[in-house]
Amino acid sequence: MAKQIPNRILLPENLVPQQWYNLRADMPVKPAPLLNPGTGEPLKEEELYPIFCQELAHQELDDDTRYIDIPAEVLEYYKTFRPSPLHRAYRLEKELGTPAKIYFKFEGNNTSGSHKLNSAIAQAYYAKEQGLAGLTTETGAGQWGTALAMACAHFKLPLTVYMVKGSYQQKPYRRSIIQTFGAEIIPSPSDTTNAGRGILAAQPDTTGSLGCAISEAVEKAVTSEGYRYVLGSVLNQVLLHQSVIGLEAKAALELYDEYPDVIIGCAGGGSNLGGLIAPFMQDKLTGKADPRIVAVEPASCPSFTRGVYAYDFCDTAKVTPLAKMYTLGSGFIPGANHAGGLRYHGMSPILSSLYHDGRMEAVAYEQTNVFKAAMLFSRTEGILPAPESSHAIRAAVDEALKCKESGEAKTILFGLTGTGYFDMSAYEQFLNGSMTDQIPTDEELQANFPQG
Ligand SMILES: *Cc1c(COP(=O)(O)O)cnc(C)c1O
Repeated sequence: MAKQIPNRILLPENLVPQQWYNLRADMPVKPAPLLNPGTGEPLKEEELYPIFCQELAHQELDDDTRYIDIPAEVLEYYKTFRPSPLHRAYRLEKELGTPAKIYFKFEGNNTSGSHKLNSAIAQAYYAKEQGLAGLTTETGAGQWGTALAMACAHFKLPLTVYMVKGSYQQKPYRRSIIQTFGAEIIPSPSDTTNAGRGILAAQPDTTGSLGCAISEAVEKAVTSEGYRYVLGSVLNQVLLHQSVIGLEAKAALELYDEYPDVIIGCAGGGSNLGGLIAPFMQDKLTGKADPRIVAVEPASCPSFTRGVYAYDFCDTAKVTPLAKMYTLGSGFIPGANHAGGLRYHGMSPILSSLYHDGRMEAVAYEQTNVFKAAMLFSRTEGILPAPESSHAIRAAVDEALKCKESGEAKTILFGLTGTGYFDMSAYEQFLNGSMTDQIPTDEELQANFPQG
């Protein structure tokens, strides 16, 4: 007899993953290598040492090791908020009247409110192990800055966070949390770096961008003794750490003999999606199963659906290595009325390669449509989703509605990456009807595409 599936599945301790899974090991076509912008040659591990801590530089370039042990200290910290629950969205299913089964993996049950802590604690651990003096990073919406501040507080590592000025002004409580955990926070662009001063001279009134904050954080790291830079998304190492999401989700589904037909995740830089899909993509690449995989992005920052697959800088001031990825160009900044995160110009090289090879799909949604799904989800499932996560909700709901039409009882899995408590101004805009959609024209996009 089939077991009754609970609303919330928690993995028993003996099934909690002890290793991260490196999807690159099973990719027949590896992601294109990072290039040294000076020479145009693939970067060697040692060339990354001035920017990244050594173990993370190693993980960044490791295309072969399939499973990597999660360090004991990281596992210990994971225990404070993992395993994260896998929910069956019974009430949402009922509200939609769909025969589909909807599951979501909820990563918002920690103080940072998102999946970013999975990688933050790993990165802070390796920095501490190497005996570094401190770390620098950037944060856009603020979740990464919060997660890394928590992780650095745990390991007593100094941290400087460059926060995109627009968010810094709009989200004072994000600032306060980051400061509560002991990090220094600087609105970007700032006069503390050459990159920041250059951007300020050209555009004194700019509210900043992620690409610009990255330039500042990298410059600060390489010019401060014993400091390194860390990044919360896009990089291969981050997708590796985030594989715990997918490994846990797959193990939890297996307890009930379930397997998803469709896996859906929002995509900013691609880390939560890359983590969620990792073991399922492994099944796809090794011929064991063939689930559909769908990336969901904002129509105002459509890297997959309207970007180009090309080598590009990861930042605005062009100080980082070149990555081959779907990109809107390192100068691209989404329109000012774009409310949530998911505003990075590029996309994970791993996901870019898989998308290019036709292993996954992508869709883009306008933000008002995304917030409609957030309303429905809040009222049925009782969780206030982050605007980013709500992109995945939108796509999952639309998939379930298609099932209602066709009568197919598909199994849908999506990633609920975080909670939206710090995004209430965006909710307010939606609720009072002042939220608008702004979709860049082809001309606007082409103006920023990388040349050559
Ligand atoms: C950062 C963030 C995202 C997007 O980042 P990815 O690297 O694409 O996962 C999505 N949801 C939440 C809640 C976030 O904080």
